[in-house]
Amino acid sequence: DSVIHWFKMDLRHADNRALALASDKAQAAGVPLICLYLVSPQDFEAHLRAPVRVDFMLRTLEVLKQDLAKLDIPLYVETVEKRKKIPDRVLELMEEWGANHIYANMEYEVDELRREAHMVRDLAENGKSFEVVHDSCVVPPGNLASGSGNQYAVYTPWYRTWVAHVHENLDLLELYDPPSKNAGAARSKYKALFGCPIPEAPENKALSDEEKKRFRSIWPCGEHEAMKRLDKFCQELVGNYHNQRNLPAANGTSSLSVHLASGTISARTCVRVARDRNKTKKLNGGNEGIQTWISEVAWRDFYKHVLVHWPYICMNKPFKPEYANISWSYDEDHFKAWCEGKTGFPIVDAAMRQLNHLGYMHNRCRMIVASFLAKDLLIDWRKGERYFMEHLVDGDFASNNGGWGFSASVGVDPQPYFRIFNPLLQSEKFDPDGEYIRKWVPELASVQGKAIHEPYGRGAEAAAKKNGYPRPIVVHKEVREKALSAYKDGISSG
Ligand code: FAD
Repeated sequence: DSVIHWFKMDLRHADNRALALASDKAQAAGVPLICLYLVSPQDFEAHLRAPVRVDFMLRTLEVLKQDLAKLDIPLYVETVEKRKKIPDRVLELMEEWGANHIYANMEYEVDELRREAHMVRDLAENGKSFEVVHDSCVVPPGNLASGSGNQYAVYTPWYRTWVAHVHENLDLLELYDPPSKNAGAARSKYKALFGCPIPEAPENKALSDEEKKRFRSIWPCGEHEAMKRLDKFCQELVGNYHNQRNLPAANGTSSLSVHLASGTISARTCVRVARDRNKTKKLNGGNEGIQTWISEVAWRDFYKHVLVHWPYICMNKPFKPEYANISWSYDEDHFKAWCEGKTGFPIVDAAMRQLNHLGYMHNRCRMIVASFLAKDLLIDWRKGERYFMEHLVDGDFASNNGGWGFSASVGVDPQPYFRIFNPLLQSEKFDPDGEYIRKWVPELASVQGKAIHEPYGRGAEAAAKKNGYPRPIVVHKEVREKALSAYKDGISSG
């Protein structure tokens, strides 16, 4: 007999709810706990997982395997080529290992929810229980309703309710213990499972040698790294987060998104550790940096709540149906220039090159480039959403879709469509000395002063031209007017 925990986007052994429940069950029944992870190349494809993200997850499995082995718990990893075979394979493994109980943390994307609802039923028909529990949000989706009983579509009132709800239910911030050690016999009984190797990335997600070297030094993996990062951020940066978080050159944010997306740290741990540092011992009040940071982690909860309530956003539809009729441009040259960071708008180009090099982009810049794609180039925001998922190490459907919806004004709690970011003003405000631009756009490294924001309009034409930096591919003032009328026409025909 045994009990199984099935890892998915929760690649940690500390503060993992389903894993803790599985461990308790195994201990109570006096049977071993076995951990399982299924690699599904088709799932990677369906979710547009970036190769850098797949590599991060596979490397993390090694760390997890070692931590679990110290507790005499095996981590069995297997590749299942076809995603629809996963439920059958889980049942086979349960039978092979004599397990009647399996646990997992819930994922909120439509395909996963549907698959797991079926699995709960099918496993029950085979006399087995499958417990799928909420874990990835601080407040589980479905628990917060507005005065009229509906899901909030606007962040600010939702956030007030979120804070009040946590303060009234402080057990939401209680952290789960790591699993207990298996009895010694598990080692010899499951010897083969302990020896199971972690597979290489599937071909469709493989990195080149150069990329492996680069990304592995930028993104050290695993839960210990995540905890170290959180502690360092809380000691050194969180106090000034509210002043620094919008400045891409400042490195004033936590860089924990990759860990939250792969589950190498829980949102609960993040909020708990930050709250404990606040002298008020509350989520709000007290230190402004801490409050602001917690409210950002809450955005992640917000977008997951939105996804659960309006699952059609998973189906390539805008949250606001009236925005489905905008006539987007499909200009491939413009799209390519955006992807490669060659638009001639230095802040946009710096940001896209940061994404291509690191698999990460600063939040302010994500908003700037998303707005630029949708409103200056009038390109379908879904192409940008997809490009982000295919390149981000922290790619997460709910947050990415939410961010694109906000920036392109088609989502939940969006910027009004007539508020169009001016890339030049954004650049001057958030990268005033041009430090971020110089770092990522070497063609402009020698440009001094304000010309960095607009080399062709402010006297740095010679340097820009000599180094092959492109001229702007559009004129902001003109395309702004085009965007306003395209949005207006789209909405009125919707
Ligand atoms: P910090 O500023 O330290 O914030 C802490 C954590 O809070 C983050 O790690 C993240 O989990 C959460 N968070 C912060 N801001 C947001 C936000 N606006 N929405 C949701 N969660 C937030 N975030 C992702 O994790 N995955 C994505 O795929 C993603 N795509 C985005 C696309 C667009 C167009 C935009 C505008 C934003 C996107 N974000 C996404 C949100 C945000 O940009 C990143 O979470 C943030 O930049 C990560 O850096 P950090 O960990 O240093 O954040």
